[in-house]
Amino acid sequence: MYSKNKIKFFKKIGFKITLWYLLSVLIIIGIVGSYLYYSLDLKLNRQVNTLLKDQVEDILHPTKKLNLNDLNTAIKRETSYRKIHKISARLIDTEKKVVVTSPNFFDPPLTISSKSIAAAQNGNEIIETIRIKNNNNCYRLLTKPIEYDGSLKYFLQIAIYLEDTYKTLDHFKQRILILIPGVIVITIIGGWFISRKSLAPINHIINSSKSITSENLDARLNPVHTGDELEQLTKTINLMLERIEKSFKKNVQFTSDASHELRTPITGLKAGTEVILSKGRSAEEYRELHENNLIVFEGLTRMIDDMFLLSRSDSSLGELKSSTFLLNGLLNELHATFSLLSELKNINFTVKSSNPVKICGDRALLKRSLSNIIDNSIKYTPSGRNVCLYFEEKNDNVAIYVEDNGTGISDKYKDRIFDRFFRVDLSRTRWTGGAGLGLSICKDIIDFHHGKIEVKSKIGEGSTFIVTLPKKQ
Ligand code: ADP
Repeated sequence: MYSKNKIKFFKKIGFKITLWYLLSVLIIIGIVGSYLYYSLDLKLNRQVNTLLKDQVEDILHPTKKLNLNDLNTAIKRETSYRKIHKISARLIDTEKKVVVTSPNFFDPPLTISSKSIAAAQNGNEIIETIRIKNNNNCYRLLTKPIEYDGSLKYFLQIAIYLEDTYKTLDHFKQRILILIPGVIVITIIGGWFISRKSLAPINHIINSSKSITSENLDARLNPVHTGDELEQLTKTINLMLERIEKSFKKNVQFTSDASHELRTPITGLKAGTEVILSKGRSAEEYRELHENNLIVFEGLTRMIDDMFLLSRSDSSLGELKSSTFLLNGLLNELHATFSLLSELKNINFTVKSSNPVKICGDRALLKRSLSNIIDNSIKYTPSGRNVCLYFEEKNDNVAIYVEDNGTGISDKYKDRIFDRFFRVDLSRTRWTGGAGLGLSICKDIIDFHHGKIEVKSKIGEGSTFIVTLPKKQ
């Protein structure tokens, strides 16, 4: 049996809930029924025992002196009038001979149990349940020793036929067993109804989720207001869809930007190659044209490296190779790396010394991020000016500053410079200058480290990039 959702009937949650529900109800009936049955059994047995003891009193009490005739009369009187819980009695002498017996005593007569007589001989009153082999009936038998003048004379035995007790117990058992089919039917209907009702929102979630494809990723599940886990589930799925939509859009945007950006240098390369092939040229000309192509190739390689890093950052945060390292060491290393470039551009690149501070993070990625910022500062600062690198501790964070007094960035671009493929100065060719990916890579790396990157800048006065990182990840 399959439903329209192609889930086997017996694998459906509704079926499982109903089954568990039924099982639980049956277990409860079993436990409660057994408890009531054994309580009733105990109570009835106690009642029979009390009745037997009362009868002994009724037979022996009126007989002040031990007189066989009086005992005989008392036995006959007490065994004759009961309609239910009929009793029988007999008197046995010490030789185990029956001297008096009520007319309704067992037929065939009950053999005298030497065990009970032996117990009674010690002065104990004992009660036992006797099963009659022939007719499968049960009796409760009380054996009481009767003493006179300090010596044991007789044993009085009183028996109650337990048929009425068993009938009551059987009746009770039947009532419980009769209940079970009804309870099973009611439980199945009830369980199925409850599970259907409580799982209805899940079916709604399944059907709504099915209608969401890459074409309508902006669609969301209709909120359910049940205030329970299902409401939570809907909200969680909607949040997940939001993240998927964002990431999907980012990827689509990235792919379209990347293909657009790649087209320009490739067109340039194609044009350069066509010029090379168009006619015979001198070795000098060939060399110049090939050098131009090489510059474009280098720009392309840089761009592809950046794209690769960005695509990696989109998918694999988990691959950060975190370690604890001295920030001062990293800054000195960066100073050494960029000192030659800054000298060539006649820029005064300095690192302000600070107390040693350790931070935790992916050293290589953080170096790459700070390199991009320093590289930009050197790139966008005119010759003869300054670039300074330093950091300050701020409680659990550390703020790293890259300060230049270069061209500066106008307010309208400050937020956009971290976007992928965004460049302020479009006059620089994309494949010889940067592709506008550097700062977006920086931002991704800093985001991975739960930090933030911001810029303070004024056109003509310079820019300060501030990277704030938590000391511990
Ligand atoms: P690019 O590879 O083009 O440098 P980035 O993402 O690194 O791309 O930078 C984006 C833009 O931000 C640059 O094109 C540049 O116009 C601007 N920019 C970045 N750093 C500075 C700076 N220190 N001074 C002035 N402008 C800057």
